Amino acid sequence: MSEISESGVVDAVAKELFIGGKWVAAKDGKTFAVLDPSTGQRLCDVADASPADGRAALDAAVAAQPGFAAMPPRERGEILRRAYEILLARNEELALLMTLEMGKPLAEARGEVAYAAEFFRWFAEEAVRVDGGYAVAPNGSGRFLVTKQPVGPTLLITPWNFPMAMGGRKIGPAIAAGCTTVIKPAAQTPLSMLALAGILTEAGLPDGVLNVITTKDAGGVMEPLIRDGRARKLSFTGSTGVGRKLLEQCAEKVLRTSMELGGNAPFLVFDDADLDAAVDGAMQAKMRNIGEACTAANRFYVQRGVYDEFARRLTERMASLKMGRGTENDVVVGPLIDDAAVRKVSELVKDAVDRGAKVLTGGSEVDGPGNFYPATVLTDVPRDARMSDEEIFGPVAPISVFDTEDEALAAANDTEYGLVSYLYTSDVKRALRVSERLEAGMIGLNQGIVSNPAAPFGGIKQSGLGREGGTVGIEEFLETKYIAVSL
Ligand code: NAP
Repeated sequence: MSEISESGVVDAVAKELFIGGKWVAAKDGKTFAVLDPSTGQRLCDVADASPADGRAALDAAVAAQPGFAAMPPRERGEILRRAYEILLARNEELALLMTLEMGKPLAEARGEVAYAAEFFRWFAEEAVRVDGGYAVAPNGSGRFLVTKQPVGPTLLITPWNFPMAMGGRKIGPAIAAGCTTVIKPAAQTPLSMLALAGILTEAGLPDGVLNVITTKDAGGVMEPLIRDGRARKLSFTGSTGVGRKLLEQCAEKVLRTSMELGGNAPFLVFDDADLDAAVDGAMQAKMRNIGEACTAANRFYVQRGVYDEFARRLTERMASLKMGRGTENDVVVGPLIDDAAVRKVSELVKDAVDRGAKVLTGGSEVDGPGNFYPATVLTDVPRDARMSDEEIFGPVAPISVFDTEDEALAAANDTEYGLVSYLYTSDVKRALRVSERLEAGMIGLNQGIVSNPAAPFGGIKQSGLGREGGTVGIEEFLETKYIAVSL
């Protein structure tokens, strides 16, 4: 595309519900506005689904399930592969669309489109690698046949912070496994998902396999679908609080679940770390997605010998970041998603300062328009500060000092979450010892980013259940069937 304009990319997206392969208005004709978080201005309106629309979407997914399960895996894989290629070819306009609805800088949005595309490439390859087994029963008289089948129609719910990648991470394996889906993107960022539905259709996805419902009434629309019983799985990415509620709802009809929930990642820097690498990693782990990531470093624990120098260097880097609209050149600190997010970050910083933390840079709200909060570094953050327990979800780096490895580990593990932990050290024995003792599903060892479609992403404790990506990602959408054979 030669001419890419803001209004052009928004106009190009269908704003209706996508049900059974057709774009349809909400039955009651309702719509809601999508806003640009950098200006507060309305970008467009999209259909506001009611429970009746949700039911129609589930009906379509249920009707399409047997045919899709019977489609040869290679064909399903080829649809995904074509979607991967289209995503890469349209990266620029999709990135602009994402920046407009979510706020992240364009460079990051481009990265997310490529990341989402990689899930389609990876699961195109996985679609044809589902295996089974044939074994002799221990008594020698029988045989065991083991095969895998799609779980069935699946409900997918995604958050606003990675509007396309979180969809790709679920839709990719669902299609590879042969599951039909109803997906509900976050109300604040529906456009990327609507664009993705168009791309998957172009790639040849049969009608009814992907149904997209946008709504302002997430609970009202999704709960009846969860309790309906015809969908056999829920895959959710979002906050731990909502995840808990959904788990309760899933219990009624015993749905399979995958839960990618909140995080509170510790970032440990030992005296023996390569400090340049640690500061680079800290910038990535903190500032990716303006700090609005489940994997964001939420607490920095730095050993006394390098504490002051690490804080000085991190402050220098954070203070130099350009804040502004994500479409402007060189912006790193885009707007937060809404004013409630700014208020929360602001309250957490104030609470830490009231308890004795020192502000090295940033630390106070800036005038609007837009939901901006500056890159902030705090030191001497005490254990009882609220941000030690709560996700900041913004560009704030709280640093605390430690002396011993045990002390660092105790602080790092003192949380209900267990998604990811980061650790910087050049001592290989310590690296492995601490990695094993950190209570997290993922460890960034001398590395500030862990996400990779070919690796198993997910958390322990209250950060979730199950894994997305890697060779286990497709298993979340498969049931194992055992056939007892008498000879
Ligand atoms: P959220 O409030 O839990 O919302 C996530 C999704 O759930 C949205 O689509 C939301 O719809 C929907 N939802 C909200 N209440 C619901 C209900 N009662 N029933 C059904 N659906 C409901 O989370 P968020 O603020 O969008 O996202 C940030 C959170 O996601 C953070 O905690 C972050 O750590 C987590 N996250 C985790 C991962 C991971 O892989 N572990 C990745 C990214 C984000 P509406 O938009 O309409 O409210």
